[in-house]
Amino acid sequence: MRVGAIVRADDQHAREVISLAKTLGGADAATFALLAEPAQTRAGVGAVRGAVVSPDADLAELAAAVGALLGDSAPDVILIPDGPLFEAVGARLAGSLGRTAARDVASVEIEGETLRVVKGAFGGKAAVALEATGCAVLGVRQGASEAQELSELPVAMVDVPHTEPLLVQRRAVRDSAGDDLGAAKVIVSGGRGLGSKDAYESLREVATLLGASLGASRAAVDEGWATPSQQVGITGQKVAPDVYFAIGISGASQHLGGMSGARYVVAVNRDEKAPIFVAADVGVVADWHALWPELRRALTGA
Ligand SMILES: Cc1cc2nc3c(=O)[nH]c(=O)nc-3n(C[C@H](O)[C@H](O)[C@H](O)COP(=O)(O)OP(=O)(O)OC[C@H]3O[C@@H](n4cnc5c(N)ncnc54)[C@H](O)[C@@H]3O)c2cc1C
Repeated sequence: MRVGAIVRADDQHAREVISLAKTLGGADAATFALLAEPAQTRAGVGAVRGAVVSPDADLAELAAAVGALLGDSAPDVILIPDGPLFEAVGARLAGSLGRTAARDVASVEIEGETLRVVKGAFGGKAAVALEATGCAVLGVRQGASEAQELSELPVAMVDVPHTEPLLVQRRAVRDSAGDDLGAAKVIVSGGRGLGSKDAYESLREVATLLGASLGASRAAVDEGWATPSQQVGITGQKVAPDVYFAIGISGASQHLGGMSGARYVVAVNRDEKAPIFVAADVGVVADWHALWPELRRALTGA
């Protein structure tokens, strides 16, 4: 079976996935990289192809970039780091290629045409073993395989041609502290309770005023208000800010799992029984639409 990896950055997780592709697919394994900058260089296994996409590219843009990258030569087994990238393209890709999809994958073995996968279930509390014949798109959990240094992989560095990018997307410059949530000291996150993209954008103003980064629940990402890289949770980013504001977020266990490292949690929800209040140091039972004008006045003095 031909094995390939799709990665977005050459961080530890991406290196693990590329290394796993190399272990499974040998010299024929291929790495497809979604790049943030045209001139970036990536090392990979066998052939590297690149598409230039904005780090803020939304789901449709990412899916289009991946489709353009693969062309007609999609590997049989496609490995993607589980997390925002798999969320964005994994299921769509599996659907468009008519493949099986699985995420939270802890191990993969290939024997002839048989694929054996062990994956987490019930939020990682259980493990299930799957056996399949045929092609698949797999979201590989962090730590599932050892990351070799790219320089140690028997591959050449490949210059991704940047004169003819497959896709170029650019977005407006962010005015908040950006979405590097992992390092953020203060995070303002919004959920479906905000009700609209415009209301979610009001959080951007809050984030800017507080010098905070902007996060989101998965529901807000699914609504298209936020990008996958802003998702906090077990399948998004794990964050550990000094202060985490959760606005219009119910507090599902999958979200709480990503924000449990926060030192201080402030929650705003109109439902006093919302589970987020169990995790909150300060809980405000209020409708965001009523609270926001007051808060804005307090923060800006206007
Ligand atoms: C395998 C798996 C993985 C998942 N991974 C993640 C993950 O990583 N991150 C994640 O976030 N979710 C994840 N989820 C989804 C999770 O289960 C929830 O569906 C999601 O977190 C709900 O998002 P939410 O709280 O924004 O929306 P909702 O559950 O719809 O909650 C909205 C909240 O807003 C409140 N509200 C409504 N209107 C207002 C208002 N005007 N003002 C103030 N409050 C208001 C409501 O009372 C409610 O509590 C995962 C689910 C599964 C099955």
